[in-house]
Amino acid sequence: MAKLKIDVQDLHKKFGKNEVLKGINTQFYEGDVVCIIGPSGSGKSTFLRTLNGLEKITSGSVLVNNFDLADKKTDLNLVRQNVGMVFQHFNLFPNMSVIDNITYAPVELKKMTPDEARKKAEELLDTVGLLDKKDAMPDSLSGGQKQRVAIARALAMEPDVMLFDEPTSALDPEMVGDVLDVMQDLAKQGMTMLIVTHEMGFARKVANRVLFTDGGVILEDGTPEQIFDNPQHPRLQDFLNRVL
Ligand code: ADP
Ligand code: MG
Repeated sequence: MAKLKIDVQDLHKKFGKNEVLKGINTQFYEGDVVCIIGPSGSGKSTFLRTLNGLEKITSGSVLVNNFDLADKKTDLNLVRQNVGMVFQHFNLFPNMSVIDNITYAPVELKKMTPDEARKKAEELLDTVGLLDKKDAMPDSLSGGQKQRVAIARALAMEPDVMLFDEPTSALDPEMVGDVLDVMQDLAKQGMTMLIVTHEMGFARKVANRVLFTDGGVILEDGTPEQIFDNPQHPRLQDFLNRVL
């Protein structure tokens, strides 16, 4: 039996009076590649952000490797070191070179030596196809290149799980494939990944599970075949009719 990674029980999240998450129950396990799909505004980003403590929960519980994120005794910074995150808009440090973006956290937070961190960063840049850009500044890169650097930066912390929030939504169409290829390779290597995406082809091909969220709850949870070929809920059927 795989080791439990993330356990979400009756998770609610309100922004003021606006209840965005209305009772999410789910578990994610080591090696899972889960795509989260659903309409805009349905709480997908908020949900992902609760999983590394970026968003404080209103009630319910989120356990990451048995660390209760709502418990004041939990060291959220330590949890975040094990939960990598890649955002739609990359969020690279603009004043640092590509390689410094990648080595910064391992040296500062993991106490890797600068030499070790550099070696590791070069390996990661090689795997995302950007070793030749190691001394470039982020501004000189295309969106797709920035996103691949952001993925390498998150991987440099050797996280147990990677969260991706619409990693290709801000990219020009011709850049999307390279980023999805890097993510597919990661999945093949066994990385645990939770991915909010509108790339239905990718979800079908790479995910072992797909969650459909709408109105602050998970309306359907199944294999790609179940979700795409045999959707049960009318709202999922309607959503797929609009996006496919
Ligand atoms: P999705 O990622 O599915 O598009 P979000 O999680 O971004 O959905 O947003 C869900 C709802 O929560 C939206 O109505 C949004 O306006 C609201 N929301 C998200 N973040 C905040 C915030 N920091 N403050 C107030 N409302 C927010
Ligand atoms: Mg979002």
